Amino acid sequence: MQMQIGKLIFTVAAILAGLWLTRVEPKYIAYNTTSGIVPDIINVHLVPHSHDDVGWLKTVDQYFVGANNSIRGACVQNVLDSVIAALLDDKNRKFIYVEMAFFQRWWRQQSETLKTKVKELVNSGQLEFINGGMCMHDEATTHYIDLIDQTTLGHRFIESEFGQKPRVGWQIDPFGHSAVQAYLLGAELGFDSLYFARIDYQDRAKRKDEKALEVIWRGSRSLSSSSQIFTGIFPIHYDPPDGFTFEINDVSPPIQDDDMLFDYNVEERVNDFVAAALLQANVTRTNHIMWTMGTDFRYQYAASWFRQMDKFIHYVNMDGRVNALYSTPSIYTDAKHAANEQWPLKTGDFFPYADRENAYWTGYFTSRPALKRYVREMSGYFLAARQLEFFKGRNSSGPSTDALADALAIAQHHDAVSGTERQHVASDYALRLSIGYKEAEKVVASSLALLTGLRLNMTYEDSIPEFQQCPLLNISYCPPSEANLTDEKSLIIIAYNALGWKRKEVIRIPVSSESLIVLDSAGKEIESQLLPLSNASLRTRTYHVKAHLRRSASSLARYWLAFSVTVPPLGFSTYVVSSAKKTESSSIISTQFTPEENINNTFEVGQGNLKLLYTVDEGKLTRYINKRNSIAAYAEQSYSYYSGYNGTDRVFQASGAYVFRPNATFPIKPEGKVPLTVLSGPILDEVHHQPNTWLHQVTRVYKEKEHAEVEFTIGPIPVDDGFGKEITAQIITSLSTNKTFYTDSNGRDFIKRIRDHRSDWDLEIHQPIAGNYYPINLGIYLEDESMEVSVLVDRAVGGSSLVDGQIELMLHRRLLNDDARGVGEALNEEACVLDNCKGLTIQGKLFMRIDPRGEGAKWRRTFGQEVYSPLLLAFSEEEINKWMGSHITMFSGIDPSYTLPNNIAVITLQELVGGKVLLRLAHLYEVGEDKDYSVLTSVELKKLFPDKKIIKVTEMNLSANQERRKVEKKRLDWKVEGIPEELTVVKGGVVDPVKLVVELAPMEIRTFVIEFDYLKTFAS
Ligand SMILES: [Zn+2]
Repeated sequence: MQMQIGKLIFTVAAILAGLWLTRVEPKYIAYNTTSGIVPDIINVHLVPHSHDDVGWLKTVDQYFVGANNSIRGACVQNVLDSVIAALLDDKNRKFIYVEMAFFQRWWRQQSETLKTKVKELVNSGQLEFINGGMCMHDEATTHYIDLIDQTTLGHRFIESEFGQKPRVGWQIDPFGHSAVQAYLLGAELGFDSLYFARIDYQDRAKRKDEKALEVIWRGSRSLSSSSQIFTGIFPIHYDPPDGFTFEINDVSPPIQDDDMLFDYNVEERVNDFVAAALLQANVTRTNHIMWTMGTDFRYQYAASWFRQMDKFIHYVNMDGRVNALYSTPSIYTDAKHAANEQWPLKTGDFFPYADRENAYWTGYFTSRPALKRYVREMSGYFLAARQLEFFKGRNSSGPSTDALADALAIAQHHDAVSGTERQHVASDYALRLSIGYKEAEKVVASSLALLTGLRLNMTYEDSIPEFQQCPLLNISYCPPSEANLTDEKSLIIIAYNALGWKRKEVIRIPVSSESLIVLDSAGKEIESQLLPLSNASLRTRTYHVKAHLRRSASSLARYWLAFSVTVPPLGFSTYVVSSAKKTESSSIISTQFTPEENINNTFEVGQGNLKLLYTVDEGKLTRYINKRNSIAAYAEQSYSYYSGYNGTDRVFQASGAYVFRPNATFPIKPEGKVPLTVLSGPILDEVHHQPNTWLHQVTRVYKEKEHAEVEFTIGPIPVDDGFGKEITAQIITSLSTNKTFYTDSNGRDFIKRIRDHRSDWDLEIHQPIAGNYYPINLGIYLEDESMEVSVLVDRAVGGSSLVDGQIELMLHRRLLNDDARGVGEALNEEACVLDNCKGLTIQGKLFMRIDPRGEGAKWRRTFGQEVYSPLLLAFSEEEINKWMGSHITMFSGIDPSYTLPNNIAVITLQELVGGKVLLRLAHLYEVGEDKDYSVLTSVELKKLFPDKKIIKVTEMNLSANQERRKVEKKRLDWKVEGIPEELTVVKGGVVDPVKLVVELAPMEIRTFVIEFDYLKTFAS
């Protein structure tokens, strides 16, 4: 009825307009854009937006200034300039802005006058910041600590410049969506809702049928309904309905409402609008639908969009069948909430993502493995460097960790660490990281100089770093440790531990001498072992030192020197390596041998509880034995590769940067017999294995550890046969796992996966391999009645369990075709020495362990944190007695009698500008994960800051832009359909201002801003 009346009014209006035009001259039409929400009618929320990638086909700066436009005509400055002008033209117009990396670049160039106007636009709600991190981060290949950091950086900028707190998550483009995004980077930020576009095409079809595109998402089993979020999935994509895109060169017909001109089309266009609205309303609950009015790098000429939207709002509302309004996702969310509807419940996540048959976006879980490792390594370093910056005291001038913070933030973008950017853009992210690292390295060096008592007064004028660090240690290159030692000159090694608990582990450094002794912090000699550098390692070193430093390695390392170090929580220990005198004992050189035939055809490695058994003839791992807990399991490890599908378009879908589409699988086996080489000694055993010229593996078994460390070197992947290849590692056991395996979400919660199955719909299988791949950031595990097999990783990789009892991880990819998703380049990475380029070689580690069932979590969580936060090593040279006599050799930033419980990590300890301190504590276990550690745990703040007087502790939301209690107070209540299982959620209580004890429940992260009554350094 409503519609018929509306149509009548429109027809009358159109006739009147026509009559009127015949009588008078055409004149200015004042479009009525004032509409708000109208009850009992379909409301079309027009949300003007621009999706601005923080690097993809061009670098972030090229996109900002509009450089390199031959690749893509995109200039974010134009977007912001023209949007602001368009908003000032009409106070009913609205716009959302998302990526703070771009907004900051623009903001600092504006005049005070314009800044004042923009602040008014923000205060009035015309311009709204949503999402509000530095970038729209990827959700598959990112670590939760990086996600928190990058969001905090953006949110605190918005808070300090505008006093605003973003309310909405806007992850419209990332290629699948994680559980951690929903609860941690959503609800725990204080967001009221989350919106995005990309989910599996089969899932989308079913949700449209059931009007289930909008859901209440509970991402965490542990935090359940206490961290749920209203989530809206767009019915098609994040651009407007067909026919409603209005950038200058877009082809949608504009509304032509001037009768003096040809092609008057108001009625036709209004009909199109109403039809598109009704179509969407048919798949959406409530009277509210959202149109995302924009897409990639649009609004470079904003008037073009706003002119059309003004007219549509004016004429559509005159017509009256539906109501159109300028809106934002916040207004839309409030309208959804006010409707008092019940919503379907969503748990788990939205991985993997396929946009059609044979197109699973699971390749990017591994794409650009070296960049992925670099990002992860820098992330761990950044965490430690901020602690050391805090201990030293932040300087208003001089080096800081800020550049590294920025570089890391940008690297979380969904075309950065994801590996889906062009090569020159990947190089740009790496360059930014290295610049940030260089500066943070100075902060670390000067902090260690201060903490060791090397200098009492720290000024930057004399900041030549006394402490060198070795970022190329992974390719056995470390000039200070390789230097020749003399009686007058020993090597001083500081090992810094960023974790809140004491740790003991083996470190390895390259050395050139074979008669060395190692002393601990007390000057006592400790056991050490020399392992000759393999030829494969030396080749890697020689080539990559040239490739990265553009010069030859200046020293000649011959051995790895390995010894065990013990380091206090948030502190360091000192170790000294000296040249051994003839009379002294010295490092033990490993025995090196090739296993020989024997009756059992087996040999064993391992000096402690863990033993690995190999066959002599094939050199194959066969058994994993732990003498402590009587585990004796069949275990094999192998490599294979997929040859990539060589398609040319979306129908003949190729394997590429985004999509994994295997053509065939091939085992990687040595041609003929390739014997293993074993190095054995008191600290560790190594098994070297080289199945072919481009694959080399070292398996390490440490005497005092119960896991095996597998270091792989892969590349250059040969492609001269015309096929791209994707290299995988398999761990094969005899566990009966019934199609079930577990993978982490952004390094945090583990999610149960069932092969060939989705919990939300009946899966139609087209790609039995690619469609079972999931992103892995921390690890993957399997379990049966008696055992658990866990594998932890050192960077983001894709992985699966394609056969019961087996784990598969994709480690490297080199492909020859573009996969037709926009990047327009084949993923064919190279490393070059001058103009001589070869396919990229990567090196990395997997960590593997088998436990009795129910005992694996302890290792996955505790050791997993150690993988993320490796010991930070710094080197100096000095006469040994001089150093030991005049320096602090052991330090802990916390009370010496205290240690954090093993289920708690300090994930942020950072001095903010102005002297306050940002502290984040994370419980590392989920509910029910471990009988000892999945419990409410407390941390004593007074013991974390023993030398300081805490005067105020304010609990904040996750991104530290508002107080937690305020967030909880304004949290929207949503109704869930049916009777969902309601777990009792435990959370830590309010912190008593006198006792200052923080409680953390399983999976809880708590964020505090702490004020001290003075800030003095520990050393003073
Ligand atoms: Zn994008």
